[in-house]
Amino acid sequence: MTKTIAVNAGSSSLKFQLYNMPQESVVAKGLIERIGLNDSIVTIKYGEGQEFHRVLDLPNHDAAVDVLINALLDEKIIESFDEITGAGHRVVAGGEIFKESALIDDKAIQQIEDLGEFAPLHNPAEASVIRAFQKVLPKAVNVAVFDTSFHTTMPKENYLYSLPYEYYEKHKARKYGAHGTSHQFVAHRAAEMLGKPIEELKIITCHLGNGASITAVENGKSIDTSMGFTPLAGVTMGTRSGDIDASLLPFLMRKEGIESIEEMVNILNKKSGLLGISGVSSDMREVEKAAEEGNERAQVAIDIFNNRVKKYIGQYAAIMNGVDAIVFTAGIGENSSITRQQVIDGVTFLGCKIDEAKNTGFRGEGIISTDDSTCVVLNIPTDEEVSIARDVERLKNKA
Ligand code: ADP
Repeated sequence: MTKTIAVNAGSSSLKFQLYNMPQESVVAKGLIERIGLNDSIVTIKYGEGQEFHRVLDLPNHDAAVDVLINALLDEKIIESFDEITGAGHRVVAGGEIFKESALIDDKAIQQIEDLGEFAPLHNPAEASVIRAFQKVLPKAVNVAVFDTSFHTTMPKENYLYSLPYEYYEKHKARKYGAHGTSHQFVAHRAAEMLGKPIEELKIITCHLGNGASITAVENGKSIDTSMGFTPLAGVTMGTRSGDIDASLLPFLMRKEGIESIEEMVNILNKKSGLLGISGVSSDMREVEKAAEEGNERAQVAIDIFNNRVKKYIGQYAAIMNGVDAIVFTAGIGENSSITRQQVIDGVTFLGCKIDEAKNTGFRGEGIISTDDSTCVVLNIPTDEEVSIARDVERLKNKA
């Protein structure tokens, strides 16, 4: 049986899922945290509730990949390295170069590294993880799956900023979006569930997790998405501000004595969003709990979050001149009945109405709008890892 590993590397972490292919059954999954720091944590879950857990110093991603692959062998999750015939790597920035998933060769790795300018925390780490996999699994096919590929179909009027045009020409300063694998996965699944060709549908996909983005999918193609040049833009997120007026930056820097623009952007990325507004947490469960207990700022954070999602749905219904389906996915979208209810209650003019009985407490895959809704509301758990594994399978034959 052949196995494929789907890898999601961040600046200091590495998540993975190992599949038997083509069955798509999960053999093991795990997380390595604190790479590059002391006391890195390795956790692998496999079999019938078995768990491998180690705390050790992993100075870099090479060391992390080494520990991971050897643990798979030591724990007898695999019998030999040769069983893993494919590795799929999530890459955050694919720029204008990667319009779809790509087989990795030396040129592709170099391009991924060069795109590090657009995602400094991610692309360099991802490139080094790809290199590490090439070293430990020299026979496996490596494939890069880009967060941005699905959005490369956006038309110019949606991806260009209203800035001097030469900034786009000279520096490729434009919107790229993110979460593409997820938006693509749930949009296709929605079309299947509706029993209609995706080419005939106008779908708005709401990926609401710690990071959150909304996408307009027309005829199966992303035509606009809420994240921008980087994943900082768009709706309110766990710790990210989403859209703000750029003129606030120099104003706040002066008032607060913030010395560098990097420090200011760091505040927008790490200290804003639900966390910044509520002062309670970046985690929606905690914010919902605090709001229930009467915390006003927590309630305002929720109201702002829902309000921003509604506004994007409105925008995207406008640019598509209609909407046939709205999809909720990711941690908040899949689990928070309150968010789904409040968002949809605000956009009933689009022909969608939440079925309270179906929505309340609903998790998993299903339709949560009333039978007479002309725009169907769906809850669809996303599965970026399986999408990555499928792309590896598809491209393996071309290697
Ligand atoms: P990431 O972007 O890190 O992958 P996830 O998709 O896992 O994020 O989503 C994490 C978010 O989902 C957190 O804000 C978390 O509170 C929220 N979440 C998870 N379960 C629930 C729930 N039952 N109700 C409300 N929010 C939830």
